[in-house]
Amino acid sequence: MRIVNLNPGSDIGASAWFVELDNFRLLMDAGMHPKRDGRAALPLYAEVEREDLDAIAISHCHHDHVGSVPVAMRHFPKAHVLMTDLSYCLLGRILHNSVNVMLRQREEHGIHDYPLFTHDQVEENEAQFQGFKCNRPIEWGALQKVRAGLRSPDLEFFDAGHTPGSAGILVRGKSQTLFYTGDVCFHDQTLQRAARFCGVQADVLIMETTRGDRLPPPGFTRAGEIDRLTEAIQRVLARRGCVLMPAFALGRTQEILALLALLMEAGRIPRQPIHIGGLGRVFTEIYDQKAHLANRQQPDLKLTRDLQLLVLEKDQLQSMKLTGGRLFVLTAGMLTEYTPAHDLALRMIGDERQAVFFVGYADPATPGGRLKASKPGETFVFSAAGGEVTRRCETGDFDLTAHASREALLDFVGRVSPRTVLLGHGELAARQWFEEQIRERYPKMKIIQPAPGLSVEV
Ligand SMILES: [Zn+2]
Ligand SMILES: [Zn+2]
Repeated sequence: MRIVNLNPGSDIGASAWFVELDNFRLLMDAGMHPKRDGRAALPLYAEVEREDLDAIAISHCHHDHVGSVPVAMRHFPKAHVLMTDLSYCLLGRILHNSVNVMLRQREEHGIHDYPLFTHDQVEENEAQFQGFKCNRPIEWGALQKVRAGLRSPDLEFFDAGHTPGSAGILVRGKSQTLFYTGDVCFHDQTLQRAARFCGVQADVLIMETTRGDRLPPPGFTRAGEIDRLTEAIQRVLARRGCVLMPAFALGRTQEILALLALLMEAGRIPRQPIHIGGLGRVFTEIYDQKAHLANRQQPDLKLTRDLQLLVLEKDQLQSMKLTGGRLFVLTAGMLTEYTPAHDLALRMIGDERQAVFFVGYADPATPGGRLKASKPGETFVFSAAGGEVTRRCETGDFDLTAHASREALLDFVGRVSPRTVLLGHGELAARQWFEEQIRERYPKMKIIQPAPGLSVEV
């Protein structure tokens, strides 16, 4: 088996793994690097462009895993794109939104590479998207090879519990198997149930390492974190301030909305409308409609029915009064510039009644990361567009992660019992922690941190 890590960076970056097995070739994920612009954000497709690719398989619809699917399909026009049936309902929307974001960035930041693909291209690509149920073997070899008598390896999706539609991918060849975790969560979230990776065994394991550098504080529990968030919201609403919770449109937004719905249901926070972004609304609607496809808790909860969701229009934002205790769950988890979440945060920062509560990861080099790290009364540059600000608002950081803890992942390695583990999707310190721990606990396993673009035989 031959594997090439196509992530252009040595950080979490863009996920894209090329695999050759029994003379068939598969690309797993086709992401985009969230911290790079233009072509530099793309996976290293040039490294494999001469390869005759049979298929592309997608783990889940986050930008760092699917953001460059149309570019990959330009390199490999014959390849079909395989994904779970819920991802199938989402992927087109995600990619059309990416086109809009790239067009805006071209205009506002002068990034001339953008857009890397167009709406027309996405529409054309969609004809080659295919959705599948989890836990069913899928043949993925190109038809002409199978007709010529070659036996195609198969592939199976396993629910990864990370976001709506997320999956790990098992690839079964004649004599070897590979498992790719994608992004995985081994604990229940408010809506999303824990991953169902039971019984997975493989010779080679490609594993995410996002939380490898995170040691949870003593006594940490998710329920405790939810209580802390609830009390914080109660406190802000009692002083008639507003709460902004920046959240990614897919997954995080639905989780936070579900949490707020349950808190309102239980009378812990007053029933009131929630302002959300347009894209958050789109994915929330799809999630409600396709709830039967998801392995979820609260099956009777319909977010668009049980909550009063108001889509925040751009021109509304500047004139809206920030009094009377409003709740905002707005897309752009890191408060990226030129988003309503960024503009609202900018209005709130100098006002001590207001609060910005982070419920997900915010990179330190983003406006969200800088606000998160700031002290009360501190003056700092929030963003190029927003300039210098002095923080008076309350901020909070709540760990409601959709990624497995490092201990849970380490146990999982033992259960899969692979010959070789490839570590990806993590910062250097995170991968290092896993390498040391695996070496200690499972001394017979070979551990590889594959460098970008390097072909490894395993
Ligand atoms: Zn993800
Ligand atoms: Zn990811």
